Amino acid sequence: MPQDPYSWIQASLATIQRANWYRSVLPIHGRPGATVLLSGKEVINFASNDYLGLAGDERLIQGAITAVEKLGTGSTGSRLLSGHRELHRELEESIASWKQTEDAVVFSSGYLANLGAIAALVGKRDLILSDEYNHSSLKNGAILSGAELISYPHCHVAGLRNLLSQYRQNYRRCLIITDSVFSMDGDLCPLPELLNLADDFSCMLLIDEAHSTAVLGKTGAGCMEHFQCTGRTIIQVGTLSKALGSLGGYVAGSANLIDYLRNRAPSWIYTTALSPADTGAALAAIQIVQQEPQRLVQLWRNVEYLKRLIQEQLPHLKLLPTQSSILCLQLPSAAEALRVGQQLISKGIFAPAIRPPTVPTSRIRISMMATHQAAHIEKLVSVLSEIL
Ligand code: PMP
Repeated sequence: MPQDPYSWIQASLATIQRANWYRSVLPIHGRPGATVLLSGKEVINFASNDYLGLAGDERLIQGAITAVEKLGTGSTGSRLLSGHRELHRELEESIASWKQTEDAVVFSSGYLANLGAIAALVGKRDLILSDEYNHSSLKNGAILSGAELISYPHCHVAGLRNLLSQYRQNYRRCLIITDSVFSMDGDLCPLPELLNLADDFSCMLLIDEAHSTAVLGKTGAGCMEHFQCTGRTIIQVGTLSKALGSLGGYVAGSANLIDYLRNRAPSWIYTTALSPADTGAALAAIQIVQQEPQRLVQLWRNVEYLKRLIQEQLPHLKLLPTQSSILCLQLPSAAEALRVGQQLISKGIFAPAIRPPTVPTSRIRISMMATHQAAHIEKLVSVLSEIL
């Protein structure tokens, strides 16, 4: 009797379960917001990347509806074939003008933007240096490119300099890749130092602005604006799916870079163009971010309020140092993180447990929104003090 070639899947699932790494999904009903219906129960939502509370905003919904009414539901093909619409160009121009870059190009997701950009920029004769905590899309882009890949210790500028001194001269091109806000830790990459290293060693630098777009910087333009580095040469990748409340990704940079990506990025060329609904919603979101700076101000007030309450009322909690809208409570094990995550839900708080292999150590990840009210934040702290 030949062996069942699929039996390993069940065995693997059992191993994942034993390690407390098993994941399942919970349905949210209705529009996203600071409170949501999770499996039918109302909870305060600290699990969302919708940092400005735009995903349920009427104006984004109208932006999507208008685009669908005018252009239909599907883009029908790749941008290079039947998929290109003027609305895509409008969105790209608005991203470039917001970020003060020469041009931008939109992808169907942030993940695809990273895969496509990295695979297009480097190849077999090249070197990638990647922060060890980088997002999966950066790591997989690096693998897809075929370049030599070396991880450097998290945000460690001296370690990166050593690696560059040792290896840079052996390769044709070199690309440094990093999250600008680390999605599971909430800290920031040392951008000014990375820009200097890139100059010193003649490297390209790519930052992933997924969690900094419409979060960092005075106008929400991201990490470059935050560090007052706008105008320096860099490759900025980001997503339309988090603070911008839509779906899709982008790369912003020089006109040559963007022109090159349109010719060489496989995940742009060989996939269907961003849908009209997503494009229309993202355009509306960028307008709102620029017209309503008070949203960003409120987001940062909320972050500071939560930090202050935790410091005052729960000083024993291990809060990872953070400079973004993501706050993480470190816990000793995956089992403990799961227990806390489940207890939070039972008490009306949605803040998920994040466990290995996504992160090296288990934690509860709290993402703040501009639309959280003081009472939401106070409830979170009082529930945490009850269960921890
Ligand atoms: N980069 C980072 C740092 C992310 O957190 C994510 C989303 N989890 C992505 C890229 C991918 O973006 P998208 O969801 O638009 O594919």
